[in-house]
Amino acid sequence: MKTDIALEQFINAHPKTQALAERARGLFPDGVTHDGRMLSPFPMYMDRLEGARKWCVDGHEYVCYVTGHGSTILGHAHPEVVDAVQRQVGLGSHGSGSSAQEIELAELILKLFPSAEKLRFTSSGTEANMMAVRLARAATGRPKLVKLQGNFHGWADSLFAGIDPPFEMPSAGLPPGVHENTITLPTNDVQALENALSNRDVAALIIEGAGAHMGSVPTSAEYARAARELCTKYGTVFIIDEVVSGFRWAPGGWQETIGVEPDISTMAKILMGAMPGGCVAGKEELLNVIQHTDDPVRDRAKRMPHPGTFNANPVSLAAGIACLKIIATGEPHRIANAAAESIRQQMHAAIQERGISGFCYGDASMFHVYLGDTDSDPTQYSKLPAATPATLFKGGNGLATGNLRKQMLFNGVDCWLRIGICSMAHDDAAIEKTMDAFNKGLDAILEDGVAPLRA
Ligand code: PLP
Repeated sequence: MKTDIALEQFINAHPKTQALAERARGLFPDGVTHDGRMLSPFPMYMDRLEGARKWCVDGHEYVCYVTGHGSTILGHAHPEVVDAVQRQVGLGSHGSGSSAQEIELAELILKLFPSAEKLRFTSSGTEANMMAVRLARAATGRPKLVKLQGNFHGWADSLFAGIDPPFEMPSAGLPPGVHENTITLPTNDVQALENALSNRDVAALIIEGAGAHMGSVPTSAEYARAARELCTKYGTVFIIDEVVSGFRWAPGGWQETIGVEPDISTMAKILMGAMPGGCVAGKEELLNVIQHTDDPVRDRAKRMPHPGTFNANPVSLAAGIACLKIIATGEPHRIANAAAESIRQQMHAAIQERGISGFCYGDASMFHVYLGDTDSDPTQYSKLPAATPATLFKGGNGLATGNLRKQMLFNGVDCWLRIGICSMAHDDAAIEKTMDAFNKGLDAILEDGVAPLRA
């Protein structure tokens, strides 16, 4: 088997990685500290990152399409971000108080997101979403929350529902009844949404900007427009989770590209220049649920408290300010989107040429490779069928995609494939190396007999 031979060579070329993986296995479940970093034969240990590339502890170079879980569009270790962080860390990392930097970053955010009037910083995207939902419940006095199948908003209890099929099966560790107030609906089904909201007991609708799994099961602009109208009609707070799509689809996020204004936007990742942190930005009346008044009874009963040791930590703020100044030029998106478009076209053609059942599709600076049952018409998926096939949520044929991913890694490209994320550092040389690895990988899975073939 082609995969087995390449695997043996890969293992032999990574002695330091193997040694670290061995130590990690005794320390962490699965040897990793984020489920998404699990990898066979071993997790990768990166030593140095620059632009579109990274180098592992064994000195091998990889083109990177994971880009800090989507937290950078400028490329790794962008010099202006590095300078800003170095300067700030020398000045101290926690002043136990407010900072001028939090004002500067907030002003940059509000300029880019006209739907928002006020904001608060958090320590992560998960916290931002948790807080947005709590704000909506506090503001409306309603209990329920609507989210969409496959949409991921971090791992807070109430939002950790219906992420992977079967959507009705709860995740381990959640107490019975925790999702009593969470309604999970199919993507792009306007009637189902109206049915849920018309009871007027839904505090918030939350959707992932661009669609489930970083846009791999896209949400249509028409649906978002209808959702906006229905939320207004029934008094539900409309939240767009722009943790991934914010500052990536456009400087003003997915909402800018589709022209829909939510009541609340949540952000993280690029927001802080690939450093930890997030924010909840939205209508003043909603954010003011946090604000103190001179009525202590109201403040105890109706005000929503908001603590968090690392909210707006100055090192992340410094990175975020440097990053958003570059984002505001629009240049990173132009370059990263063009890179992704070139990859989408080339990968799709490579799949079709070989008679493999699958396609490559996507929007903005993302690309998604799907191998599995399909009629091989990518437009069918980019146009969003009303009933999106469950296999799309699962990422298609796991064996074929997993083996292709490994083959690409063996050839110096690190990409989840189900989701590939470009930055403005993905130049022609990086794309050429990527396509070489992709073509070799497709040939290998064909030779190994694991590629799904078109009927
Ligand atoms: N929302 C979306 C759309 C995400 O993709 C993620 C993480 O990938 C989160 C929220 C959670 O963000 P964090 O990992 O910063 O908690």
